[in-house]
Amino acid sequence: MSRRKLIAGNWKMNMTAAQGAELIANLKAQFQDCGCRGCAEGPEVLVCPPFTTIAAVIEATKGTSLNVGAQNIHWAENGAFTGEISGAMLKETGVSYVIIGHSERRQYFGETDETVNQRTKAALANGLKPIICVGENLTEREKGVTLAIIERQVRWALDGLTADQMKTVVIAYEPVWAIGTGKTATDQQAEEVHAAIRRILAALFGDETAAATRILYGGSMNAANAAGLLAQPDIDGGLIGGAALKPADFATIIRAARA
Ligand code: PEP
Repeated sequence: MSRRKLIAGNWKMNMTAAQGAELIANLKAQFQDCGCRGCAEGPEVLVCPPFTTIAAVIEATKGTSLNVGAQNIHWAENGAFTGEISGAMLKETGVSYVIIGHSERRQYFGETDETVNQRTKAALANGLKPIICVGENLTEREKGVTLAIIERQVRWALDGLTADQMKTVVIAYEPVWAIGTGKTATDQQAEEVHAAIRRILAALFGDETAAATRILYGGSMNAANAAGLLAQPDIDGGLIGGAALKPADFATIIRAARA
């Protein structure tokens, strides 16, 4: 089963609308020479700007094959949830993906496995493709409970979903100790967890769904380490923070995913 790789940039709380449009212009310039507007054999490429930058980025990506996503979604359709954003609101902006359960959301904003599951269902109900983040922290890794933590997070996130709904779900394995720290999981450490996630998916939804689901690696992926990680059999792309803000580095990662 061949899975098209997905290279996704998580801009976090960076880039005003003007800066975001400029970043896209600079990214497009990286591919000027090959005349590529997104070759069919290359990876799918996605950028996830802050909510207020989405419109400018959608405008800037017109005529390209770049996809645009959001960084969070609330589970309710509407209501008294100050500061939150609904699936219908996101859909109207034109985004196609949404990141859910990023460790920064879990760590600083109290998100739980249960709300990750609710947000995932809201994304699917609104025709948005969820990118569900899971990952252990350093203490958990050192205690040797990484796979147990990942299994709990994956099972909770996907609770109640059907194999049919899984067709658009993407999982991102993001070891918390590797996010924004410059420490990357080794190719083998990452592959071990990705393969375990695929086994969990097989147990939940069957082999076909497990083989078709894309599992991204995230955690200090950069221009230098991307090729090794992306060459692993169960690593189907990257969720990239810091390096996604540097057009030349992001372009190098995109090229590494073409190989
Ligand atoms: C992320 O934000 O999902 C991420 C992986 O960040 P970084 O690449 O900066 O570690």
